[in-house]
Amino acid sequence: MAGLLSGLGALGLGDLENTEIFEDKKAAEAKKKTAEKAVLTVDEKDLIYDKQFKCPVCERVTASKIMKTGRAKLLGMDEDLKPRYEGIESVKYDVILCTACGYAALSKFYGTLMSSQIKLIKENICGKAKLSDYNTDTYSFDQAIERYKMALVNSVVKKGKTSEKAYICLKTAWLMRGYASELAKTPGNESKIEELKNAELENLTNAYEGFVEARKTENFPMCGMDESTMDVLLAEISFKLKKYDVAGKLVSSLLSSISASARIKDKARNLKARILEEVKSAE
Ligand SMILES: [Zn+2]
Repeated sequence: MAGLLSGLGALGLGDLENTEIFEDKKAAEAKKKTAEKAVLTVDEKDLIYDKQFKCPVCERVTASKIMKTGRAKLLGMDEDLKPRYEGIESVKYDVILCTACGYAALSKFYGTLMSSQIKLIKENICGKAKLSDYNTDTYSFDQAIERYKMALVNSVVKKGKTSEKAYICLKTAWLMRGYASELAKTPGNESKIEELKNAELENLTNAYEGFVEARKTENFPMCGMDESTMDVLLAEISFKLKKYDVAGKLVSSLLSSISASARIKDKARNLKARILEEVKSAE
């Protein structure tokens, strides 16, 4: 654009002489769109950070990647309470692992060990586990699966509570579901997705058996859940495993319970409708 800016050469600013005073409208719109896109594209690595943990077994300090609280946007929850966040599979970041010795646990259970349990972990895991290299910005699903395997084997070795083992199986099932839905975004992954779906069901079956057992032997709160939350979770797992009679009984007892909250009763009513639909379509 000529005009006022012509003659800038005389001011020693000749380079700017042909500058547009007003940005081209199209260019401005494109710029705006790029800026909006930058805001909308959530980068997984910005939602996590390296947190240092002192291992209760070997006492060394190592880092695990943890989700920043309050940073990721919660989009909703699956029926069995699995959270869904924008731009990140949160389940991948819930295991704290000491890469020096192999001690691992879900963050909820990390660090509280009796000396007899430390001894068992030292004897059976330390120095034996061959872990992958964790020099990446984010955890891949395969790395996360390794971390969950380590959490489960540690729980078994230390003779952890049944509810803890069941909870690890539940979260492993969620991880498999997250992995499958990630792979479903690109074509050609059908056989791996099928494999992951089977792994999800296997882990849900283990979680179901563990929680049913824990319900008989342990007290509430269990893994941070009160009795009615646990029952609604068990009912949903039963439904996924096609145990409609078990799911139906749990739903009826929740609907007549005086202690279950309105939110839990809503979930129970929603599940009741889905059970009736399944039973009807099977007839
Ligand atoms: Zn350690």
